[in-house]
Amino acid sequence: MKIKLTTLALASAFVLTACSTQIDGDARLQEQAVLGINWVQQSGEYQALAHQAFNTAKVAFDQAKVKKGKKKAVVVDLDETMIDNSAHAGWQVKNGKGFNPEVWTRWVNARQSQAIAGAVEFNNYVNSHKGTMFYVSNRKDSTEKAATIDDMKKLGFNGVSEETLYLKKDKSNKSKRFADIEQQGYEIVLYVGDNLNDFGDETYKKSNAERRSFVEQNRQAFGKKFIMLPNPNYGDWERGMAKDYYKGDAQSRVKIRHDAIKAWDGK
Ligand SMILES: [Mg+2]
Repeated sequence: MKIKLTTLALASAFVLTACSTQIDGDARLQEQAVLGINWVQQSGEYQALAHQAFNTAKVAFDQAKVKKGKKKAVVVDLDETMIDNSAHAGWQVKNGKGFNPEVWTRWVNARQSQAIAGAVEFNNYVNSHKGTMFYVSNRKDSTEKAATIDDMKKLGFNGVSEETLYLKKDKSNKSKRFADIEQQGYEIVLYVGDNLNDFGDETYKKSNAERRSFVEQNRQAFGKKFIMLPNPNYGDWERGMAKDYYKGDAQSRVKIRHDAIKAWDGK
C-alpha cells in the first residue's frame, strides 16, 4: 500500500509539474505580447500607420480604373484591419492564456470590438464613390456572424449585408471567396489586410522565407493594389517561423521565437 501511495504521489507530482510547465509556458508566451499590445493601444505611431494605410488606400481606390462593364470592388479583412480586437489580446495577457477558439467566439459575441483608426471613414468613402466594399474575414460564419454585423453597424461601417460579408464557412484561405465576388461582375481593385494571406493564397501556410519572397516579387503592388496594416500581436508570419510551429507546446514556441532572433554578439 505504501509503495502504491508513493507511486501515486510521484505520478501526481509528475502530472502537476507537467501542468505547471504548460501554464508557465503559456504565461511566458503571453507575457511576450505585452509590448506589442501596449504599442497598439497606446502609441500615436500605431494610429498614424493606420491612417497612413487608409489615406494611401483612398488614393489607390480613386486612381483605379475597372474594365468596361465591371463594377469596382474593394476587399478588406476584418480583424486587425478594420476591427481592433486588442482587448481580447489583453485578456490573454491578464489571464496567461494562449489563443482558444471558444474564448475568441465569446469575445466576438461580447460585442466589444472597436474600429481601427481611419477604417470607418475609408469604408464610407468607398461605398459613396461608386465602389462596393466586401468584407472577407475568417471569423466563423456559424457562430460569429450576428455579433460581427451588430458591432460593425454600431461602429459606423456601412454596406454590411449578407451580400458583402464573406465569413469563414470551411476553408481559411480566401481566394475562392475572392473569385465568388468577381463572378458577380466585380473587379477587385484593392485588397486591405494585416496578413499577407488577405491578398491571396500564394502565402497560405508558407514559411517566412517564402512569404518574404512573395513580398519582394510584388513590391510594386504595395500601396497600390495591396494595403497593409501593422499587427505585431499575431499573424501567419508567426507560424511561418518554423514547420509545425503550432504543433509544439508553449515552451517550444518560446524557444523558436528566441532561436529566430538575429543578435549582435556584443563584441
Ligand atoms: Mg486580420
